[in-house]
Amino acid sequence: MSDRELDLQYRELIDSAPDGFVVVGPDGAIILVNIQAETMFGYPRSELLGQQVELLIPHRFRAKHPQHVSKYAHEPRTRPMGSGLELMGRRRDATEFPVEISLSPIRTSKGVFVSAAIRDVSDRKRIEAEARRANAFLLSAVDSIQDAFVLYDEEDRIVLVNSTFREMLGRTLQGPIVGRLFTELVDRSIADNVFDLGDETPAEFRARWCAYHQLPNGALEVRTRTGRVLRIVDRPTAEHGTVSVMLDMTEERLRADELRRARETAEAASAAKSEFLASMSHELRTPLNAVLGFAQLLQRDKKQPLSERQLERIEHVLRGGEHLLKLIDEVLDLSRIEAGGVTISAEPVTLPDVLHEVMTTLEPMAQRAGVSVAVSVLPTSLAPVIADRTRLAQILMNFGSNAIKYNRSGGHVRFEVTRGSESVRITVVDDGIGIPPDKRAKIFEPFHRAGQETGPIQGTGIGLAISKRLAELMKGRVGFESEAAKGSAFWVEVPVDQVGAAMPTAPHVETSADSTLVTAVPRHKVVYVEDNPSNIAFMRELMADLPGIELLTAPTAEIGIELVRAHHPELVIMDINLPGMSGFDAAKQLAGLPETKSIPIIALTAAAFVRDQARAQDVGFYRYLTKPVKVDELTAVLEEILGKS
Ligand code: ADP
Repeated sequence: MSDRELDLQYRELIDSAPDGFVVVGPDGAIILVNIQAETMFGYPRSELLGQQVELLIPHRFRAKHPQHVSKYAHEPRTRPMGSGLELMGRRRDATEFPVEISLSPIRTSKGVFVSAAIRDVSDRKRIEAEARRANAFLLSAVDSIQDAFVLYDEEDRIVLVNSTFREMLGRTLQGPIVGRLFTELVDRSIADNVFDLGDETPAEFRARWCAYHQLPNGALEVRTRTGRVLRIVDRPTAEHGTVSVMLDMTEERLRADELRRARETAEAASAAKSEFLASMSHELRTPLNAVLGFAQLLQRDKKQPLSERQLERIEHVLRGGEHLLKLIDEVLDLSRIEAGGVTISAEPVTLPDVLHEVMTTLEPMAQRAGVSVAVSVLPTSLAPVIADRTRLAQILMNFGSNAIKYNRSGGHVRFEVTRGSESVRITVVDDGIGIPPDKRAKIFEPFHRAGQETGPIQGTGIGLAISKRLAELMKGRVGFESEAAKGSAFWVEVPVDQVGAAMPTAPHVETSADSTLVTAVPRHKVVYVEDNPSNIAFMRELMADLPGIELLTAPTAEIGIELVRAHHPELVIMDINLPGMSGFDAAKQLAGLPETKSIPIIALTAAAFVRDQARAQDVGFYRYLTKPVKVDELTAVLEEILGKS
């Protein structure tokens, strides 16, 4: 091979190298470059050969370069150039780029030549910078997590923590944190008394934490000595490490405690309110019982009839007392509904029955007001509705009594029933005074009397509010239409009993409720168990007006039972709240004795609670009457029972 051929072969060899090659002679002049060096620096070979190598270096580094060259000449060996320095190359167009240079000496007879392998590391530097930026980004993200964060590697050594972790547990580790084992962290924090172990021994606490860390499920809750509550949540990472977050739950826990306490206080207050209302109702009803009872007796006294003026005054007493009683009942009812204390029993209810009951109750009021009340012909095949019978009757009674009240003498009230596919609507239509448009908006809100506040018609403004809430409790709704001076139509809709059999039409519902008491002479014994003397006095007076009744009274349930066993009366009237044994228990005892079990017992109590009524039904009272006694109601029951015997 000729020298020239050899030369060419070397040339090809260095041209095929991936790096740039520049060979510099002892005088610092470039004597050889390869293609990569040409492209890298942007010079054609011809412009480089013979030039000082400083041409390829940025100006600011040029002055010092000859020193480096001569230093290299003294200890020439293959090594990277400028270790630890950022080396830069300078292109022909004066732009700079980062380079890595490896130097090798070539010893010749003309001195030491230096071959420099040059690599453009712009891309690598850029990627490194990007990776650094991404890393910084991640670190600052982790650091901005307010909760403590720690990442463990496969060997359970700490790889990464944030500053909250450093503050919380970093100190206990002493020295560098990264690289420390999870178990070291546990042991040191236990030794440093970081945690409040409660009832646990340090070994138990350690075992619990380690077990959770090994197989994390849910969260682990720990308390620090400083009273903070930490929730530790560990999760395995895809790289078989573990990421652990320690959330400070102290505030949440405090808030939850506060909420719980507030709820308990509110519940206690609500219970106290119910209790207060119950006892207030009882306390108010008992004296009202005497007021209304004696007023009624005076009014009906046939032996010493009252004068016109006295009757008029008694009428005022009765009206005032009744109003007060209604107010007590309604406020109590509304507050119970609002406190969620009213349970609705949804069961199939046949409308004709309910309507009959409502009509019977409304009739006396209608008669007094000179208003006629009727039920329109009911639709054929009227299915039962799903409702609470008592509560549905209460709504209809309310609409009905309003229709009579807000009417005029000679007015008409009609109950109409229309059937939809899902529900049945009962409308109470009147031709009374109607409601002016500007008074209609709040009519279903409590204490809104739609302009009647100052009028002569008594009311509380609560009835419609109760009706609406009750209807909603029964999955129904209420509404109305009205025209001032023409009349109103209030309606309630309740769901139809889909499975209920079709009902035959009730063509007409009787509206008469005349109560003529039995006048037969045989003596009827009635035992009245009651501890309140004024109630006993009232009952005596009432019974004295009724021929043929002998009243025996007992102040306690125990005496009452004895009295009943001894006299075998036709009827027992039983107060419920008695000293010692309650009326409920007494009634149960009587029902259990063969000689007394068939004697009807009427419960008479001031406690107008649904729960009591439900209990009364269980006990099997013949009737459950509330005080104040409505004379008509009581005499009707007496007639019913005594009339039979
Ligand atoms: P109140 O005890 O005052 O009757 P309600 O809640 O039953 O209370 O009724 C609220 C108000 O609605 C009444 O005060 C009355 O102004 C008006 N109202 C209710 N029903 C009728 C009706 N049928 N005709 C005219 N006004 C009525």
